[in-house]
Amino acid sequence: MQKFEYVVVGGGIVGLSTAWTILEKKPSTRIAVVEKEERWAVHQTGRNSGVLHSGIYYKPGSLKSQLCREGNRRLQEFCNANGIRHETCGKVIVATTESELPLMGNLYQRGLANGLAVKKLSAGAVTEIEPHVSCLAGIQVPSTGIVDFVAVCQKLVELIGDRGGELHLGTEVRGLRCDSTEAVLETSKGAMAAGWIINCAGRVLRTETRAASFGQKPDLSGARSPVSFPGCPFYPHDRWQCSCRAKRRTESQARRIPSDLIRFARLLGHHDLRRVLASRCETCRIGTG
Ligand SMILES: Cc1cc2nc3c(=O)[nH]c(=O)nc-3n(C[C@H](O)[C@H](O)[C@H](O)COP(=O)(O)OP(=O)(O)OC[C@H]3O[C@@H](n4cnc5c(N)ncnc54)[C@H](O)[C@@H]3O)c2cc1C
Repeated sequence: MQKFEYVVVGGGIVGLSTAWTILEKKPSTRIAVVEKEERWAVHQTGRNSGVLHSGIYYKPGSLKSQLCREGNRRLQEFCNANGIRHETCGKVIVATTESELPLMGNLYQRGLANGLAVKKLSAGAVTEIEPHVSCLAGIQVPSTGIVDFVAVCQKLVELIGDRGGELHLGTEVRGLRCDSTEAVLETSKGAMAAGWIINCAGRVLRTETRAASFGQKPDLSGARSPVSFPGCPFYPHDRWQCSCRAKRRTESQARRIPSDLIRFARLLGHHDLRRVLASRCETCRIGTG
């Protein structure tokens, strides 16, 4: 049986960056990353919106806010050091009705309290930046960017391999045994022993299996997304995110995130996806049709 000091389960951005960080701190450590798919970053990481978030929405002083800003800075640093395409294009958040103006004012204050260089914009100034947007006013968040997360993962895989980390694709973790000195992972390609197992197998995937492996009762409450605007078919964590769904990706294409839509429609139990895709959100006035 192969033995490692660390085994990281999951080859998305969290697993790969965890393994890379461990190797940075402990270069001679024996570490393996196991991924059940035949390619890296094919789940959430490979299908997300490619946004380098600024942290504007988070409560000032909270850990989320600190980590988001620090993550934004460090990811840009990583991309610059490794020649990965990214762009700090900024983001514009707009109010389209009178009632949204005070909410946008609060968000502006939150941005300042989070240490972001947010700027108030008149409707005319918004149009100069985004000619197709019609609104009453807006705010600009300069530190939001776009990045190719799959390219980031590919680079991490290369760096982990260069430093002697083992990379196992097509290796599904199916069970776990623990004794006082080590843990043994049962995988589709045999058993692996490890001093430390770091579970980065994603948020939704295999929650029951993972919980059961650790002898716990499955609890899926952490796998659901909050829905503030149940009538909106677009991934609406909150009104502001809802109104910002039209965005560019690194390949400089505008898109309206159909993958988010499909995922969200499934979450709501909409089986007729064509109807959802043809619909229009009355809250944010974005439609895919
Ligand atoms: C619709 C959507 C849009 C998003 N947009 C953004 C955005 O623009 N910017 C941003 O920063 N974040 C965004 N996020 C969040 C971000 O994508 C996730 O936080 C991030 O990708 C999570 O990475 P991960 O490595 O935990 O998960 P994943 O990328 O899902 O990786 C988990 C890996 O574990 C593997 N795995 C699972 N079970 C096993 C097993 N038993 N054995 C071995 N391997 C296993 C999976 O195959 C998978 O590759 C978005 C999320 C969603 C859902």
